[in-house]
Amino acid sequence: MIIDTHAHIHQHDEYEIPEIISRALESNVSKIITAGVNITDSELSLRIANKYENVYSGVGIHPEEIKSPISKKDIKALKSLSKENKVKVISEIGLDNQKTSPEIKIQEEGFYEQIKLAKEEKLPIIFHIREENNDFEESFAKDIAINIFSELSIGDIGGAAHYFAGKWDYAKKLLDLGLLISFAKPIIYNKSLHETVSKIPSDKIIVETDSYPQHYKPDRSKWTEPKDISNIVNKIAEIKQINRKFIEEKIYNNSIKLLNF
Ligand SMILES: [Zn+2]
Repeated sequence: MIIDTHAHIHQHDEYEIPEIISRALESNVSKIITAGVNITDSELSLRIANKYENVYSGVGIHPEEIKSPISKKDIKALKSLSKENKVKVISEIGLDNQKTSPEIKIQEEGFYEQIKLAKEEKLPIIFHIREENNDFEESFAKDIAINIFSELSIGDIGGAAHYFAGKWDYAKKLLDLGLLISFAKPIIYNKSLHETVSKIPSDKIIVETDSYPQHYKPDRSKWTEPKDISNIVNKIAEIKQINRKFIEEKIYNNSIKLLNF
């Protein structure tokens, strides 16, 4: 069994959601975490999680949505959402160091406050740190994140760097802080990630599809869905040259432990 630890299936047209879940179940995906990107979207994520047994919710404000300083009202709303049974993680949160992203200081404060909230509510975090053009060498946002994680002793609640596309030395810093690495599609087509995959211990890996409605792909059957997660597990087994069943079980147990199932 596999857990898709990060997706946005609640953003699909509602009539599609039962079909997406049943395709996932047929592909051995037993649980899906659907993450909100702002307060309204997090409320929707929880509503869908409450409706479907195999779906769980992540609540949070995505860095691209933090255009003005995070308000007390937002934190209060997230806090009340995070107390719901089906909310398993504070997500999607992060830092985006890109030209069109909101001012980094404002993002940083929002990121910090949401991690503090996660600690208060004893929930893990699933986050991303993106540098401009996903530059491997750049460490501006990464350094900010690492300082925040150290200051807030992130290992107490745990978490995972999702859609990971970085070098081993950065992954190692996150592992040392008590975090996990979540792999998605990039490991399939980006060979420069293979070294990172091969070096990360099997008990530190989880997987995700980050799937959402991909209207820019006219062929609906080509949209990524939780059912596609096997390809990521296959690739990890191939890169690490270990038994497929072994790594699947490891990844499943890591996900269960992180998300307190
Ligand atoms: Zn996402």
